[in-house]
Amino acid sequence: MVKSENNFSTQRRNAIKMMGLGSASGLLGLFGSSEANAATYETPSYAKGMAPVKIKSVKAIATAPQGSNLIVVKVETTEPGLYGLGCATFTQRAVVVVTAINSYLNDFCVGKDVDNIEDMWNSVYVSSYWRNGPVLNNALSGLDEALWDIKGKRAGMPVYQLLGGKSRFAIPCYTHANGKTPEEVADSVQGIMDRGFKYVRIQQGGYGNVGALNDKADFKEAGFGAESDNYMNENTYLKSVPKIFEVVRKRCGEDVELLHDIHERVQPMNAINMIKKLEEYNPFFIEDPFSPENMEWFKQLRQSTSVPIAMGELFNNINEFKMPMVNQWFDFIRVHVSQIGGITPAMKIARLGEWFNIKTAWHGPGDVSPVGHSAHAHIDLAVWNFGIQEAVSFSDKMMEVFSGCPTMKDGYMSVNEVPGLGVDINEKEAAKYPIGTKSNWIVRKKDGTVIRP
Ligand code: MG
Repeated sequence: MVKSENNFSTQRRNAIKMMGLGSASGLLGLFGSSEANAATYETPSYAKGMAPVKIKSVKAIATAPQGSNLIVVKVETTEPGLYGLGCATFTQRAVVVVTAINSYLNDFCVGKDVDNIEDMWNSVYVSSYWRNGPVLNNALSGLDEALWDIKGKRAGMPVYQLLGGKSRFAIPCYTHANGKTPEEVADSVQGIMDRGFKYVRIQQGGYGNVGALNDKADFKEAGFGAESDNYMNENTYLKSVPKIFEVVRKRCGEDVELLHDIHERVQPMNAINMIKKLEEYNPFFIEDPFSPENMEWFKQLRQSTSVPIAMGELFNNINEFKMPMVNQWFDFIRVHVSQIGGITPAMKIARLGEWFNIKTAWHGPGDVSPVGHSAHAHIDLAVWNFGIQEAVSFSDKMMEVFSGCPTMKDGYMSVNEVPGLGVDINEKEAAKYPIGTKSNWIVRKKDGTVIRP
């Protein structure tokens, strides 16, 4: 009796020891019950994971090599030489983002594990209790993308590999054609097509034809508003857009995909009526028909026309995407990725889109840093429901500050195969281009009323 009790205790001890090696080896150990079996099922070295690394500091790097304020977050770690970069650019209020990063985010992050991105995103998101607006979301995006960069470096893989690998060899892009007349826009489209682009966004003047008018702004003559305020004539704009499409289609043919951005600046029913007139020109998408305050008008828009719609550039919170996507109110997710908090939330929205056949179209203007453009590109390579990417080109000054930037060829964007996001920053060069605080963008009607974008 005593002997058999001893045998049972020994077997139990062996079983507990083996369960510690992982569930599969533990179960096998229970049945095999010998030290030799335990050695056979030891976790192989390649599957053992990596030693923990902690965050040493989080800081903002502010630079404006192309004129637009750019903010990049640098996360340094306890591993010598290992750091990550992320885009936190909110160009219009850049100084405030710098403060949020250096004064709050650094303190919150120091000493935490670099590996737990999902946990870090959620804990930063609720750490100020009130949910994030654009300032804190951009700061969070910088942290999030920097942690993905670090994870890629630790894994020895580009970030797109960590997101599932390539779904396409490179990233189809659109770029911008412009001109003061429809004929000038058509010339511009032809030139872009000659460079290999198959997708072109067409605009006449600035958004809403701003700057392409000879019409006079009464508010300016009355001395109302600031000198730099822009004037937009909604009627002239609404009439001009079908004309641009007509002239460009006639000149450039049916093969090129045409896009246009309303930039939320017109009355909802006027936008709907204008989009209906574009049906015969087969647009690839029409962007941002309504301001975020006018989302309910989508029901009317979808009943009125089948023209594909891109929306979401001004959304801040990922929950803003939920019901419009479930209701299939738009076809392309137009997101400013740093504005919603980085790669982690962008992947969630992209995956939600896959269920509803809604595709990605990340916002990629000049006021996104090369790190941010690279983050877009890594997601674009990986997700199945990729739609289109806004192309980017970098000046020589920008490439003196940032190395490893995404590249363009024949209308496709590519990233390098360097582990992480593949972009680095020269802080000495960055310091040569200080950021500014003058970033106000006001557009008014003839009588001076402010137009909501
Ligand atoms: Mg836009």
